[in-house]
Amino acid sequence: MGFCTMAKIVIRNLVHGPATRRYPAVPQRACPITRGHVTLDPAQCISCGLCMRRCPAQAIQVDKAEKVWEIDRFRCIACDACVEACPVKCLTMETTYIAPVTEQTVERHAITYVKPEKKKKPETGQAEG
Ligand code: SF4
Ligand code: SF4
Repeated sequence: MGFCTMAKIVIRNLVHGPATRRYPAVPQRACPITRGHVTLDPAQCISCGLCMRRCPAQAIQVDKAEKVWEIDRFRCIACDACVEACPVKCLTMETTYIAPVTEQTVERHAITYVKPEKKKKPETGQAEG
């Protein structure tokens, strides 16, 4: 790279500022094609485990007995497969800002879904005796 070319780049950067952003000090801007991050609605999750089985990165763990849903943010590749697979649509891709993951990469959610009780069938006539 010649001196003139380099000087032009330096002057342009001095005038326009750096091309990079100071993330996470400055929140990132979501562009229109940003998929975002997986978000769970724990009140709707039926612990079926389909998201866990469909995830190609083994980022999701579902413990049906303990009623716990976990996602490892470092493993997730934002492919959307879990969102498409969820039968009750309690997973979504949100583009809202979240703090960067630093130490605790696994996010734990207590599933609060309660299966509704089946309605009792009305008793039909008594047995004749
Ligand atoms: S978006 Fe893809 S990689 Fe991330 S948790 Fe869902 S299925 Fe796994
Ligand atoms: S998030 Fe959806 S697919 Fe995953 S366990 Fe819950 S209900 Fe099933």
